[in-house]
Amino acid sequence: MGKIVAVVNQKGGVGKTTTVINLAAALVEQNYKVLIVDIDPQGNATSGCGILKNQVQSTIYDVLVNNEPIKTVIKQAQQENIDVVPSNMNLAGTEVELVNTKQREFILKTQLDSLKKDYDYIFIDCPPAVNILTINALTASSSVLIPMQCEYYALEGLSQLVQTIGLVKKNTNPKLVLEGILFTMYDSRTNLSFQVVKEVQNHFRSIIYNTKITRSVRLSEAPSFGMSCISYDAKSKGTEQYRQLAMEFIERNQ
Ligand code: ADP
Ligand code: MG
Repeated sequence: MGKIVAVVNQKGGVGKTTTVINLAAALVEQNYKVLIVDIDPQGNATSGCGILKNQVQSTIYDVLVNNEPIKTVIKQAQQENIDVVPSNMNLAGTEVELVNTKQREFILKTQLDSLKKDYDYIFIDCPPAVNILTINALTASSSVLIPMQCEYYALEGLSQLVQTIGLVKKNTNPKLVLEGILFTMYDSRTNLSFQVVKEVQNHFRSIIYNTKITRSVRLSEAPSFGMSCISYDAKSKGTEQYRQLAMEFIERNQ
């Protein structure tokens, strides 16, 4: 049965989408079957997988708002053997459109439950906000993977996120656990990176991945070619780091 992992941080630009695409690609390399569910209206995971987000017929919007079966919406990434539920700007008004829908926190969960058997891992790429989309993702998931950039406000953001997760556990998904915390765009030369890691270790030592993702140009270039860094430059540092993360991820899940 597939494990559903929400990749969440209410801050934008911290490496959620990069992590979803490259961890997925690294797991596919190890012969796991992986689905990416893009629930960010920006659709970066969709375009990062080489899918033209404004030319797809239906998207996660149709799944959430029009009750379209999620299976019929799945596309294939252009380069990798990854299935993708695409997203685009249509999704932006979902909060308002679902306001009178009963049990609206559970829509994604209900849909994904029918797909679990087809995959080893399902990653949900969340928007940079705590809204009904993120709540749907957290309600549908077994665990939460948090990418964190090592900057001063990251800690404040983390404690807010932990509070949100606590609320979801209380209200819609008691079994939700933390999958792991991943430091992204890490710079070992700066004191700030070091301090942030140390501080987070004080509270979450056991779930921080040993692998840290450093800044790399290749990682930021790959999405414009619609592929993971692993396909784009198989020998780059970013590729190596995400492969290493995949190994840790697999180990934790055995
Ligand atoms: P989020 O999904 O959290 O908004 P992204 O994964 O889209 O964040 O990353 C934000 C930007 O930073 C993107 O332009 C991405 O290509 C770039 N980026 C992400 N991780 C790295 C990295 N390790 N090194 C360099 N650039 C990165
Ligand atoms: Mg993103």
